[in-house]
Amino acid sequence: MPEAQFTKERHIRYFLRCLKTFLPDLYTSNDSNRMLLAFFSLAGLDLLDVLESKTTPEERQGYIEWIYHCQVRSGGFRGFSGTDFGDEIRTRDNEAWDPANVPSTFFALVILLILGDDLSRVKRVECLKWLPKMQRPDGSFGEVLGPGDNVEGGGDLRFCCFGAGTRYLLRGRSGAGLDGVEDIDVDKLVTFIESCQAYDGGMAEGPFCEAHSGHTYCAIGALTFLDRLSSGSEKVQLISPGSEKYESLVRWLVSRQTTELGEEDDSEDDSDDGTSEANIAQDLAEAVAGLSIDESIVKLLAIPPPSENSLHWAGFNGRCNKYADTCYSFWNTATLEMLGKLPLVDAAGNRQYLLEKTQHLVGGFGKGVGEPPDLLHSYFGMVSLAFQGEQGLNRIDPALCATHRTVQRLHALPWWRGTE
Ligand SMILES: [Zn+2]
Repeated sequence: MPEAQFTKERHIRYFLRCLKTFLPDLYTSNDSNRMLLAFFSLAGLDLLDVLESKTTPEERQGYIEWIYHCQVRSGGFRGFSGTDFGDEIRTRDNEAWDPANVPSTFFALVILLILGDDLSRVKRVECLKWLPKMQRPDGSFGEVLGPGDNVEGGGDLRFCCFGAGTRYLLRGRSGAGLDGVEDIDVDKLVTFIESCQAYDGGMAEGPFCEAHSGHTYCAIGALTFLDRLSSGSEKVQLISPGSEKYESLVRWLVSRQTTELGEEDDSEDDSDDGTSEANIAQDLAEAVAGLSIDESIVKLLAIPPPSENSLHWAGFNGRCNKYADTCYSFWNTATLEMLGKLPLVDAAGNRQYLLEKTQHLVGGFGKGVGEPPDLLHSYFGMVSLAFQGEQGLNRIDPALCATHRTVQRLHALPWWRGTE
């Protein structure tokens, strides 16, 4: 079998098309998430190391201006300009209808860094005063501040990650220039995150829910951001090798790698000859009805042992018993990278799954086998490959989900380092 190829030039063309022309109409409902779409487009080109060669300085300045246009006067960023009714008529009473948004704020700051901006126009103090208002009494974060300063939306681990990430980006190592600015309640946030670990080791959206790789990434991302700014020597157990919480989490993550790809031709064959999974389950139920447990076990379907061929493509799922999906190659490998355990996965199987099964002919990656490319899966597919050292991709920071160059720009800012 010829070695799988990463079609870099096609991916460059795909991301440039997304950035500079109209997106397909399937994105229409994502209008209020433009900040996220901008992040994927620009971060994708930066990961491919062509952001500066394939866009002009004027274009990059235009993107920077658009992001600052999304900044809310009272701190934080909106996800798009559609709610902006202008600073002239904005008052304390009506500002809840044009709120800053926790995820969009995080992405806006990361994009500015990707574009080489020094964050000098960011309302840093205002944003850091707004952030604790987004935290709920249980330690979790909401999405926006509604009428009456009520915290609305969010509540799951995604918002914890963006809250902790925004704090990491703007507080800096020393908190220079922030005298009198109240911090978020870090202890409560950690307690909330810890309460989301499920019985099987993975992290769920909330306490007593089903473990999910996306939320697991967000939990460990949040703890990583907090840990990077922590002056204490004691690490949270979830990110401390050797602790039971850490070991069960790593075991759960590694177990997400799967050769069940949900390929289209499987289901087509099934529907043709009447042996769909639903039919098999029905027949089986009838066949074993009234039998003892021992007799039922004998009647179970034989599951063939894995062969060299069936192990060739091994993607990742996000929950037990689900098919592989490109983005879960990211959610799981990024989390393992943060935990220092990425070498435990079958890197070749993941690479072959991404390059031979979901990499698209026109560039970009689809969600699953045979699916059209979209921005989220295209970026996350490439990031997972970057962790594994794919040629042609920049190295990437798993928590910030942006290139090391972007992180270095942040760490070089005087107020971030604490030299100002
Ligand atoms: Zn996905």
